[in-house]
Amino acid sequence: MRLNFAFGGVCGSDMHYFEHGRVGDSVLRGPMVLGHEFSAVVDEAGAGVEGFAPGDKVAVTPALPCQRCDYCHRGLTNLCTDMSFMGSAARFPHCDGGFASALVVEARRCIRLPEVADLRHVAMAEPYAVALHAISMASDLAGATVLVTGAGVIGQMCATAARAAGAARILMSDIAPAALERARGLGVDEVFDAADPAAIAALTEAQRCDAVFEASGAAPALSTAIAACKPRGVVVQVGFLPPKAPVDFAKLLTREITLVGTYRFINEFAEAVRQIVAGEVDLRPMISADLSLDAPEAVFERAFDKAETLKVMVHF
Ligand SMILES: [Zn+2]
Ligand SMILES: [Zn+2]
Repeated sequence: MRLNFAFGGVCGSDMHYFEHGRVGDSVLRGPMVLGHEFSAVVDEAGAGVEGFAPGDKVAVTPALPCQRCDYCHRGLTNLCTDMSFMGSAARFPHCDGGFASALVVEARRCIRLPEVADLRHVAMAEPYAVALHAISMASDLAGATVLVTGAGVIGQMCATAARAAGAARILMSDIAPAALERARGLGVDEVFDAADPAAIAALTEAQRCDAVFEASGAAPALSTAIAACKPRGVVVQVGFLPPKAPVDFAKLLTREITLVGTYRFINEFAEAVRQIVAGEVDLRPMISADLSLDAPEAVFERAFDKAETLKVMVHF
């Protein structure tokens, strides 16, 4: 289908490609359009495409699993060994992202939205899907005390998803006081300054967290996550850790803590779109700035200003 871009969120991986030309093992070998968090409007459905008409609002998933590999057959499409993920350099030729005024995508990437849908809000569906999948890796969160380490966008999304899943109390830690202040405004119950050893000691000595979502990708935060977790609790690693991160795993054994990774999302993209369109969650307070992609330097300058910025939303 041919689409007209509506709104898009700038992600940390877009910033990594922009600054370093790589994200982990995915290295740019040629030009690539960035952007994997976006909404659009159908310009032309194209031959053989049914269920879409020009003018339809759509959510677009960047993930297009192969549907042939073992993981796809097992329903674990997020672990597909031949994934076509928009705006990712994992494959070559690279799969272009969505930050283009007009683009052509496979129809099965698209979810048709009701006319009333807020396309700017729907552009938050992809990172929220990541959080919903992370939440699915923990056990039932109803009534749970949940800690999120890292108060960036994904951390805040995890807090929102945990609340939607029934968590009773949400704690958050970060090394940036401004980020913690913002987290309070977004409904987090208690915040902990990870740069203050006394605050972290208070958090870990209480051992009161049923589930912890480590969204910072910092080794000390994973050590804190494990130390703050109750016996038989679960720690979900959401952020990318650096190679050979020095982590204190001592309590993993004596408390029988489950440590699990989470990667991208499966059916949670459709669920994220559903919750957003139904008004069950409001992710819009996480948008710090709306900027035009006609001035990309200004977009990235704002996105890199982490103290002041959660999500930068772009349009043309
Ligand atoms: Zn992203
Ligand atoms: Zn596959």
